[in-house]
Amino acid sequence: MRLTQQQMNVVLMKFKSMFTDKNPCPMCKKDSWSISDRFYEMKEFGLNENGTQQTSPFIMMSCKTCGHSRFFNALILGFEFTPKKDDVDEEVTES
Ligand SMILES: [Zn+2]
Repeated sequence: MRLTQQQMNVVLMKFKSMFTDKNPCPMCKKDSWSISDRFYEMKEFGLNENGTQQTSPFIMMSCKTCGHSRFFNALILGFEFTPKKDDVDEEVTES
């Protein structure tokens, strides 16, 4: 799911406020990152007791040099995901 420009601005502002120091890549030591304009999800392994899978939404930040990636939980960043009627797409709001 793609972030709107407004949601991307929220992510950039939050990262800017949280990461005040240089943040070199732990793998290649360069300090140049890209932030994906899409939400990603991580799924629970296998099915839970309800026969479903718990999922968590993430924002991905990748090192532009080596590709090492970091994932930030979008719920903790303040995004809320509300299933739509058709239960296929989700509506995303930021708080
Ligand atoms: Zn790197």
